[in-house]
Amino acid sequence: MIIAIKPGTGGEELGDFIALLEKKGLRINLSEGITQTVLGLVGDTTGIDAEALMAHRLVEKVLRVQEPYKRANRMFHPEDTLIEIRGPDGGKRRIGGGCLTVMAGPCSVETPEQITAVARSVKQAGAAFLRGGAFKPRTSPYSFQGLGCRGLDLLVRAKRETGLPIVTELMDIHHLELFEDVDIIQVGARNMQNFTLLRELSRCRKPVLLKRGHACTITELLMAAEYILAGGNDRLILCERGIRSFDPYTRNILDLSAVPALKRQSHLPVIVDPSHATGLAWMVPAMAKAAIAAGADGLIIEVHNQPEAALCDGEQSVTPEVFASLMDSLRRYADIEGKKL
Ligand code: PEP
Ligand code: MN
Repeated sequence: MIIAIKPGTGGEELGDFIALLEKKGLRINLSEGITQTVLGLVGDTTGIDAEALMAHRLVEKVLRVQEPYKRANRMFHPEDTLIEIRGPDGGKRRIGGGCLTVMAGPCSVETPEQITAVARSVKQAGAAFLRGGAFKPRTSPYSFQGLGCRGLDLLVRAKRETGLPIVTELMDIHHLELFEDVDIIQVGARNMQNFTLLRELSRCRKPVLLKRGHACTITELLMAAEYILAGGNDRLILCERGIRSFDPYTRNILDLSAVPALKRQSHLPVIVDPSHATGLAWMVPAMAKAAIAAGADGLIIEVHNQPEAALCDGEQSVTPEVFASLMDSLRRYADIEGKKL
């Protein structure tokens, strides 16, 4: 971090300011020019609040040289993070580190027949995880809110039957104890900056899938990731799921450039959700392939056995048949990228 000092400042005043910074455990390089004095802060500046410094009467400008996130930063962790999760069948599932991982299932768990049928078909097609929402963050309070605890039970039953580990969203930290049999806890886009939830999840021992907020920057996503990592939970997966755009043609706009950006800035695995990004089932296969070409470590895809009757997100859900044929082509894409699907 570099601090430009206001012209005309020096002497005791400047000495006091430097002492204040040194008390924060930093080494200060002082460079006094004819018109400008500059301080170079050496050490861990992640805890330094640049905005608070800007408010200091001696400070002209503050420039961050290093990113404000440390644990999520590839600079301090050059190797890709690899997350291993053991399924109920004893088999290991890998996320990151050269693997391609596909998670698939309905937006919401609706009935025992629906979740069982979808779970069987996505397993058959080669998905590594079953997704399904039990607690749903809906825009309208009058829309289907998910089956809650009963939905979780049905999901766990489908996990036992198929051997697929499960991914589902946690909206309220008080529900955490119900998530005992859940393999990956999803933090939805709407909760990406729910810092209380992130802090609690940082203390839990379960892998977390953190979805990018609709209107959040890449740096904000990495700062949200930092909350989870900082508390000691290093089994974290990032998810690009589309951001708001001016164009209503698609539900969101899939920011595929976020994939190489996140992979460059961070060591964490990055997966893509082409379903929420586009909102259109027919567009999902094309964007799923594009995500792999962009370097994604995996995909999370909504699949429904009867999209027209789905209680949530039917328009963006592919049928089991489309999903199976997509998986066949994804295997070829994975080969080209030198990844294992
Ligand atoms: C979902 O996965 O069904 C979901 C609600 O996702 P998002 O938080 O990305 O909207
Ligand atoms: Mn959905």
